[in-house]
Amino acid sequence: MSHFIVVGAGQAGQSIVTKLRAEGFEGEITLIGDETAPPYQRPPLSKAYLLGDMELERLYLRPANYYADEGITLVTGRAVTAIDRAAKTITVGDDVLAYDVLALTTGSRPHRLPTAIGGDLDGVYTMRTLADADAIEPEFKQGASVLIVGGGYIGLEAAAVAAKKGLKVTLVEMADRILQRVAATETSDYFRTLHTAHGVDLREGVGLKALTGAGRVTGATLTDGTTLNVDFVIVGVGIAPDTRLAEAAGITIENGIATDACGRTSDPSIFAAGDCASFPHAGVQMRLESVGNAIDQGEVVAQNMLGKAVSYTPKPWFWSDQYDVKLQIAGLSTGHDQIVVRDTDGARSHWYYRAGHLIAVDAMNDPRGYMVAKRLIEGGKNADPAKVADPATDLKALMRA
Ligand SMILES: Cc1cc2nc3c(=O)[nH]c(=O)nc-3n(C[C@H](O)[C@H](O)[C@H](O)COP(=O)(O)OP(=O)(O)OC[C@H]3O[C@@H](n4cnc5c(N)ncnc54)[C@H](O)[C@@H]3O)c2cc1C
Repeated sequence: MSHFIVVGAGQAGQSIVTKLRAEGFEGEITLIGDETAPPYQRPPLSKAYLLGDMELERLYLRPANYYADEGITLVTGRAVTAIDRAAKTITVGDDVLAYDVLALTTGSRPHRLPTAIGGDLDGVYTMRTLADADAIEPEFKQGASVLIVGGGYIGLEAAAVAAKKGLKVTLVEMADRILQRVAATETSDYFRTLHTAHGVDLREGVGLKALTGAGRVTGATLTDGTTLNVDFVIVGVGIAPDTRLAEAAGITIENGIATDACGRTSDPSIFAAGDCASFPHAGVQMRLESVGNAIDQGEVVAQNMLGKAVSYTPKPWFWSDQYDVKLQIAGLSTGHDQIVVRDTDGARSHWYYRAGHLIAVDAMNDPRGYMVAKRLIEGGKNADPAKVADPATDLKALMRA
């Protein structure tokens, strides 16, 4: 009987094993993760779960009995330390397991602050795992002062939770504006206004110079010379794909573990999916860091592990919750040269165009705008910018045009 092994028990790993069984694969499946928890969703860690609005049980991607019921061997709390590609085996602690087909879904790791500037002081956290969220949660005491380093989605979401819980929040972003890497100026402006209205001290164009404290962090010096007293710090300065295992095994790395359109790495018996994997798109090896990508790419990889030849075409979508605002994003805004703002009764959306063609949308409390734009983008259709900007336009009519 064939043995398929999936390394990394997160969103993409779960997607692969589920799809393998859905496709009728009757062989042996082993899903191995180094975290102690069974596969769970990460997005709530910086949203509802951190806020205390979501039970632990609801984080899990499948009920506890799922794995036994499906005949999937789930191994948690153990890291895979090596791949022997010639022997087609992996090493997990003292065990060596043989595979017929292997999938790497090792995710990504957050950048940490250097030790030289206090990155290893107690009270300095990153936000990637359930263990991270559980370690941070007790720090969220009303009146405590938190410094958030980085104005991307995770930093902003943590700021929203902290402000809602009555903490004194300072957020520093080294770039000129929050969300600079991922969104248009209009979206940055919208979220700056939102956070400022909730009392967040948001400082853009200012970086962290150093954290100070004897053992535990108590202060911070910013690049403009300002000093702050802080009780704890959350660092949200981006992630890097976890390619260590693949790299050590001599698999090609290019912006993550490089795969072809089918998710196959430079070793034909090894696939990769999710945050750790790059795939060919528009002439480059692209990598996406989102739940949608982990699920969809995982499903494609599962089919190809079974010998099919399904190509992966990304349909990017993302979301973020901050205070009472739900942001929904569809498409990729890279290279946009025009933004169209649509504002209707509190529902607001920013439509991105490149060379006159709709490529992406940021929708704030505007589920209808999001759905319409998403369908247009995924269908390769366009929408007249003047009509989009006109609040009187019935959005559904845009789809019929
Ligand atoms: C706080 C937070 C909020 C987010 N919010 C959103 C959101 O709102 N919307 C959205 O679309 N995306 C969001 N994301 C991103 C999304 O969660 C990721 O893109 C997604 O989890 C990627 O899935 P993955 O399976 O590739 O990686 P992961 O979910 O990271 O899983 C990889 C797993 O592999 C394990 N692993 C690594 N190496 C080994 C090894 N050698 N042996 C065994 N196990 C190993 C890792 O420990 C990890 O458990 C968020 C992420 C975080 C951290």
